[in-house]
Amino acid sequence: MSIVDTPERRQLRELTRSFVTREVLPHLADWERAGEVPRELHATAAKIGLLGIGFPESVGGSGGDLLDSILVTEEIIRSGGSSGLIAALFTHGIALPHMVAAAGGQSGGLLRGRLGGGQLRGDDDLVDRYVRPTLAGTMIGALAITEPDGGSDVAAIRTTARRDGDHYVVNGSKTYITSGVRADFVTTAVCTDFPGSGELSLLVIDKATPGFTVGRRLEKLGWHCSDTAELSFVDVRVPVTNRIGEENTGFLAIMQHFAAERLSLATQAYATAQRCVELATRWCRDRATFGRPLASRQLVRHRLAEMHTRAEAARAYVHEVAARVAAGEPVVTEVAMAKNVAVAACDQVVDQALQLHGGFGYLRDAEVERHYRDARILGIGGGTTEIMNEIIAKGMGL
Ligand SMILES: Cc1cc2nc3c(=O)[nH]c(=O)nc-3n(C[C@H](O)[C@H](O)[C@H](O)COP(=O)(O)OP(=O)(O)OC[C@H]3O[C@@H](n4cnc5c(N)ncnc54)[C@H](O)[C@@H]3O)c2cc1C
Repeated sequence: MSIVDTPERRQLRELTRSFVTREVLPHLADWERAGEVPRELHATAAKIGLLGIGFPESVGGSGGDLLDSILVTEEIIRSGGSSGLIAALFTHGIALPHMVAAAGGQSGGLLRGRLGGGQLRGDDDLVDRYVRPTLAGTMIGALAITEPDGGSDVAAIRTTARRDGDHYVVNGSKTYITSGVRADFVTTAVCTDFPGSGELSLLVIDKATPGFTVGRRLEKLGWHCSDTAELSFVDVRVPVTNRIGEENTGFLAIMQHFAAERLSLATQAYATAQRCVELATRWCRDRATFGRPLASRQLVRHRLAEMHTRAEAARAYVHEVAARVAAGEPVVTEVAMAKNVAVAACDQVVDQALQLHGGFGYLRDAEVERHYRDARILGIGGGTTEIMNEIIAKGMGL
């Protein structure tokens, strides 16, 4: 039995599937055209407890651990949703965990045995002002790390926060920020020493703060239902009480929470591959060429068999690594390998699934076309494939 195949998790899978069928599938094409998902979707997902999965009840979440979050992600895509939808609706999965940890809580089981609440300032105020309303679906948050000068080198962040009494004065810019257009607040990585020093802190910045402007809505290859923005900060005064944890603990917090983001992206990758295997299999059964169904040809059957094998192997490895993370094991290298394995499987499977669909696969009407475009970000976001290889090489002692 799979680790995500318990009776409780089967119920969660059912809940997720019915949410996607009722609330998402009839509208997804419209949201792709609109470039964003409606705010009401957050409230609807919150009402049935889906938005809060992986966050403790003590901060307004629904409970559950990292494996429950993975199950929800997997099921959304396998029910016909998309990784773009997950990026848009579950941005809080990257925007909130630092606050929850700083208040002494845990999200997704990720921090167990590794950070401990005591190292950072317990801050229930941030939980009340941002975490609870977001998990209730009435606020939207984003996480801003990447800057126009580069994203892979997190320590090189140049957005500065200079202390001035009870405030920080923030100057700089961020780019490629998921949900940045719609977000009410942004968990922002800033440099609290000289630019490039690597001394980072995390500040929660309200969109309404003077000097904070949301720039262009960025147009993208895929993830069309997920809004992506440039952000600018000019002399933005942020209360010191909006700092997450102690000053200069931001780099460590960012690195620790990358594990959850990377496993989520790995899940999106293998689930997209699984969905594309299903779509291609259905298509090859129904489509006949030269008087026979495609699926009757050995070449096609073997291709589908290989696609299925790659998707299932990636899923098994991601689950194994996720279980180890949830148990508190320090598996930074394995998380990087899981992301690369799942992304490689996804890249190959979506490409072959589209090919098997022939000309129809290239049309906007084909679901596989959307997955093909959406999949390309998975090896870039949350740390690129090359950066994962750097981590793996370090883990090998190279
Ligand atoms: C749709 C989308 C959504 C995003 N959402 C967010 C978000 O919500 N918040 C956020 O902060 N960021 C977000 N990002 C940014 C994303 O995390 C970065 O794009 C990513 O980390 C890579 O950074 P970069 O684009 O600056 O590339 P760069 O760091 O400039 O890298 C360019 C290329 O060089 C390679 N490279 C870099 N360094 C090395 C090295 N040492 N050795 C070998 N190769 C190297 C990289 O792998 C890459 O191929 C998003 C991006 C996109 C496209």
